[in-house]
Amino acid sequence: MARTPNPIKSGKHYTAVDFGAPAQWMEHVLVRPGRGEMAGKIFIKENLGLTGMELSLNAAKPGQDVPFLHDHKQNEELYLFLDGRGEMQVDGEKIPVGPGSAVRIAPGGLRCWRNNGKEELRFIVIQAKAGSLEQSTGGDGIIPEQKPVW
Ligand code: ZN
Repeated sequence: MARTPNPIKSGKHYTAVDFGAPAQWMEHVLVRPGRGEMAGKIFIKENLGLTGMELSLNAAKPGQDVPFLHDHKQNEELYLFLDGRGEMQVDGEKIPVGPGSAVRIAPGGLRCWRNNGKEELRFIVIQAKAGSLEQSTGGDGIIPEQKPVW
């Protein structure tokens, strides 16, 4: 049975959801209308109410690969690898990946990945509109007078 995201709590300015530990991500099943089901993948934008990005949590078994290339019209993607060993392919170039590897791919880059290691490959993919970030961190952050109370 597929793992179901478990809402933790939400408020005026936040939504918190438990998607399971990375070792459990293989239990997520993505249903793709007309294209069957895919184990080990869940998109989390809807669960969290994200408005400026899409994210997926991914797990792949040893030997698993994506049998097609894909591209995006306007979103850049960040693949952030947590566990296992694998390879990404972008525009025909192969990139070895493992824990801590991050790969950015701009619109126009034909991409896919494979798990060529001996363990489960686990990674997060973040999508956001290329060129949309106007400021971040110190430029966007605000530190009010109010202090945290635990
Ligand atoms: Zn993509």
